[in-house]
Amino acid sequence: MLIPAEYRLINGSWLDVVPACLYRARANNHARQLARADWLIRNRSSGSYIATMQASRVRFLNRSPAPQQWLDAVGELLAAADGSIIYLPLSDLAPLHAELDLDADAYSQQSGLSAVPEPVQLEYAGRDCFRRPLWLVYDAAKAWARMRTAAEADGVRIQAISGYRSPYYQMGIFRRKIIRGMTVGDILAVNAAPGFSEHHSGRAIDIGTPGEPAAQECFENTPAFSWLNRNAARFGFRMSYPRGNAHGISYEPWHWLWIGSNQS
Ligand SMILES: [Zn+2]
Repeated sequence: MLIPAEYRLINGSWLDVVPACLYRARANNHARQLARADWLIRNRSSGSYIATMQASRVRFLNRSPAPQQWLDAVGELLAAADGSIIYLPLSDLAPLHAELDLDADAYSQQSGLSAVPEPVQLEYAGRDCFRRPLWLVYDAAKAWARMRTAAEADGVRIQAISGYRSPYYQMGIFRRKIIRGMTVGDILAVNAAPGFSEHHSGRAIDIGTPGEPAAQECFENTPAFSWLNRNAARFGFRMSYPRGNAHGISYEPWHWLWIGSNQS
């Protein structure tokens, strides 16, 4: 069951549910309903707000009667909240790859990247540097909080630029670039295909420091980066794409993956 005090994001195949208090209404006529709600249910693909929940009562945000497929999806979502399902099936990615005309197996072989299973449940880990809610899997969220505190104690400020991102978010990047005239091949040279980003795992964080541009190579010259190099491993974090990495992915000094640790 969903307990309001727990700040969690629950993923279903179509929909997700997030604490209503963390998100702003996008339409004036929804503000009151959202303010009274415990939970907000969104369409994962478009990001649009579908319904709210107060106690266990679901109210759709649009007046028109909810189609049966939405009602079924809400039922599926609530069932997923009991923790019995850990990851969403990778088969959910097929429609996205079909839209891009992408052969996922061939892509995986060429890139050396594997499809990344998406967790059903994510934990609120504060806000990122853009004031958006930051979502991570539970253990990564705890490790991130401990690491920030330790950095702060050493006089170093680290902040999250981005944490968990869904394959639909990644798909949005592709759709926008295609509209601007890029080919899927061009985009794949810079962005992982939807379903293949470490950010889908809820274990990856792009880390920055105040006053520096987000996700730029110059991050490597900051005290924050030297601190991470010396200390991140103690908290279970590892840089995924160092210079000259085996994946041939460009150097990303800001991108760190929580791989767990028995040292801390
Ligand atoms: Zn990243």
